[in-house]
Amino acid sequence: MIHLTKRQKDIFGKIDDSAGISQWRDWKWQLRHQIRDIETFENLLGVEFEPDERRQIEETAARFPIAITPYYLSLIDIEEMQNDPVFKQAFPMPYELDTCTSEMADPLSEDKDSPAPGITHRYPDRVLFLVSNICSMYCRHCTRKRRVGDVDFIPDKETIQAGIDYIRNTPRVRDVLLSGGDPLMLSDEYLDWILTELRSIEHLEIIRIGSRMPVVLPYRITDNLVQMLKKHHPLWLNTHFNHPREITRSSSEALAKLADAGIPLGNQSVLLAGVNDCPRIIKSLMHKLVINRVRPYYLYQCDLSEGLAHFRTPIGKGIEIMESLIGHTSGFARPTYVVDAPGGGGKIPVLPNYIVSWSTNKVILRNFEGVITTYQEPDSYAKYFCDRNCPNCHLTLKLEGADEWKAVGIHKLLADYDKAISLVPASNERHQRRNGQ
Ligand SMILES: *Cc1c(COP(=O)(O)O)cnc(C)c1O
Repeated sequence: MIHLTKRQKDIFGKIDDSAGISQWRDWKWQLRHQIRDIETFENLLGVEFEPDERRQIEETAARFPIAITPYYLSLIDIEEMQNDPVFKQAFPMPYELDTCTSEMADPLSEDKDSPAPGITHRYPDRVLFLVSNICSMYCRHCTRKRRVGDVDFIPDKETIQAGIDYIRNTPRVRDVLLSGGDPLMLSDEYLDWILTELRSIEHLEIIRIGSRMPVVLPYRITDNLVQMLKKHHPLWLNTHFNHPREITRSSSEALAKLADAGIPLGNQSVLLAGVNDCPRIIKSLMHKLVINRVRPYYLYQCDLSEGLAHFRTPIGKGIEIMESLIGHTSGFARPTYVVDAPGGGGKIPVLPNYIVSWSTNKVILRNFEGVITTYQEPDSYAKYFCDRNCPNCHLTLKLEGADEWKAVGIHKLLADYDKAISLVPASNERHQRRNGQ
């Protein structure tokens, strides 16, 4: 028995009455019937926009196109459509055209930090690898909005090969994150080829996939796909649920298939005004995720991409939400709240403050209830000077593959073996004067 909601049956009937109802669960059928214009949207949901509104929506869609899967469309509650979290994530809003000066096409400088096609190499030991330029649903809050609506394409083997070669020739890369677009828009065979190539690279330890399919097209998670993915362990998958309403029977089934295949699952949410900027909504989402064996990974502050102004909240909202989670619920049900630094500085974790004060003897901390407590520092602690001479150290590290690395940033200032005593911006005038520049 195929379980479909009343709305799903209704949409199915309007799209293609002739096909058997089992087609609904065929991901390729879903892709063939993506909703890409306002008229189809209106027809399928039985709604109608005012002419004025419609003109504005059309203008918006001309700049940032629409694509919605029939499945995701079916989650919209038309009784309260203007406030509906699914509607808001999927349907164009005229606000998207109100760009403000702090917004950028590529706020994370992904294109600047790209040494090979599709590769962004920002962190020392891991890379982002964009292997698909297409998605089954165009999120209105997409951080790569600059690319959405470029001609949809899947990079050819040659282009992908160039990215793979970069990873092969860069021994420091131990972790690759396949993203896009959505990597699960690729066929099983093509993805299998990419994963096999990557697995043949000895220094590459971890492969991760970032995909929104479990949310917007859970039928993509087929037995075949999962059988194929299983061959490439250790493989991790992060998905992107933003609202508890997105966790349906179908998405739960998809997540169970992935978890049963031994794929550790994570979730990256984006804090979105009018969608999930509420401690109660986020907590409910986190709880539903862990019930489905998905570990909340990141909660993102909304990026400064063009056309996202109406989705942005103050960072204070994120801190308030983290305050409502930490201590109040299971440690593994809370994500790390991060601001992805504009200009390409990477993800910066942001937390409420828990250290109130300290002396040489005591640290004063506060807990989630507001209780202020003292931690007595140890009376004696054998401080030792780390000269990075590990074989001579009293601590044992008889672990091959415990890589050596160079301390960077604040870690550099803390390291005994590094002579640096300050970090100074390259453009510091005082230092330029010293150097006679
Ligand atoms: C987010 C991201 C990664 C992965 O970062 P993690 O914190 O390890 O999840 C890697 N590269 C880029 C460019 C990223 O934006």
